[in-house]
Amino acid sequence: MRRKIAAGNWKLNGTRASAAVLEALVEQHPNPGAEVIICPPAPLIPILAGLGTPFAIGGQDCHAAASGAHTGDTSAEVLADTGATHVILGHSERRADHGETDDMVCAKAKAAYRAGLTAIICVGETEPQRDTGTTLDVIATQLAGSVPEGATPENTVVAYEPVWAIGTGRTPSLEDIAEVHAAIRDRLAERFGPKAADAMRILYGGSVKPGNAADIFAVPNVDGGLVGGASLKAEDFGPIIAAADATR
Ligand code: PEP
Repeated sequence: MRRKIAAGNWKLNGTRASAAVLEALVEQHPNPGAEVIICPPAPLIPILAGLGTPFAIGGQDCHAAASGAHTGDTSAEVLADTGATHVILGHSERRADHGETDDMVCAKAKAAYRAGLTAIICVGETEPQRDTGTTLDVIATQLAGSVPEGATPENTVVAYEPVWAIGTGRTPSLEDIAEVHAAIRDRLAERFGPKAADAMRILYGGSVKPGNAADIFAVPNVDGGLVGGASLKAEDFGPIIAAADATR
């Protein structure tokens, strides 16, 4: 039985005052059945973690190195030291804005393991790739390149995020989500064995909202969601946590 996850990616949003969002969510869900993970901008990690809520706190990226001359970067070790337990890696915005390759994502995932963090590794096709029927090949290549040897159900979560669905209000059909998630689990089984693959959580991300979360989370092999825009307000993310709880 895989415990569902409701993960919020706050991206470049939030200030110290956003602690109120977390507090409101905890008031709605003081004892969630699903695992709730909030990933704020890095400077907010110790503030949110310091609230001591039942929700996990995660980073949105880390550098592959533990320390060194890398101005502006944050190590997995600092994320862990300041209260993070998870880190999102290989988000399509980082792949696009910062030229992150599968190799770089893989190195960052190894850094996450080194620091004791769970890596939430994102994969997903662009719209032209979907239109030309190469989605499953693209996902297979990204998984093979981005997920390191040593991935386990404890240290790794995969997030399927079709690039064209992020922030657009558009989502694939439930059948298309089911097809990709089943293919991801098959690829994980080939590499890590059926038992480990069966226990790994695979999240869907891309325009998850209160109105579609329950349907998406009920799709076979969907173990919850990675949520951007709808994770910024308690009135939106609260019902998404409830949907993850209800479909566990
Ligand atoms: C994301 O960026 O991870 C995401 C899923 O965004 P949104 O929910 O806003 O589409």
